Amino acid sequence: MVEGTREGRREPLFATTWELDRAEGGEVQRLKDTALEPYPDPVLEVPADLQRGVVVTSVDALLNWGRRSAVWPVTFGLACCAFEMIASAMSRFDIARFGMEAFRASPRQADLMIVAGTVTWKMATAIKRIYAQMAEPKWVISMGVCATSGGPYYQSYSVVPGVNHIVPVDVYVPGCPPRPDALLYGIMQLHEKIKRYRLTRQPAGV
Ligand code: SF4
Repeated sequence: MVEGTREGRREPLFATTWELDRAEGGEVQRLKDTALEPYPDPVLEVPADLQRGVVVTSVDALLNWGRRSAVWPVTFGLACCAFEMIASAMSRFDIARFGMEAFRASPRQADLMIVAGTVTWKMATAIKRIYAQMAEPKWVISMGVCATSGGPYYQSYSVVPGVNHIVPVDVYVPGCPPRPDALLYGIMQLHEKIKRYRLTRQPAGV
């Protein structure tokens, strides 16, 4: 028997268990009736004349699509690798296919630094300053073994053993020098990275 308080007096709420079962069944049915009402169809009403022209996406995906379709490199060549970078902008390789033909003379109008050539310690401070002046978000490609590790000048007193000692590097392109198509492949890898960029970056673990 189930006991409870009814109008201040202590008396059974349900005389029998089947009364309790029936009350419980009624409550379950009431919940089902109110919770399983179908949503209006369609949930999002789109006028008929717009239905073929509507795309649903996230803000990050839209911004990243724009960013990777028009990465602007800062004009920046340090040694022989730079000639291959310049060749990538010519008609045979045509970097314009990626929306990148606008090499900028000002780092404030650029979001990509292609470090093409040997990085000397004397040049290191200039690289750091130019990187700091570039617009956010920004990326760096290390082109060739000189920029990546010092290359033939590894352990030289005057050469930086990898530009990643000075600025963060996103993509490394191997070779001495890498061909323009190798640089283009590195750029396509960078595009993949830009696709995953989050506008609302959360601290790790959140
Ligand atoms: S990697 Fe080779 S081609 Fe490029 S800057 Fe160094 S020595 Fe020159």
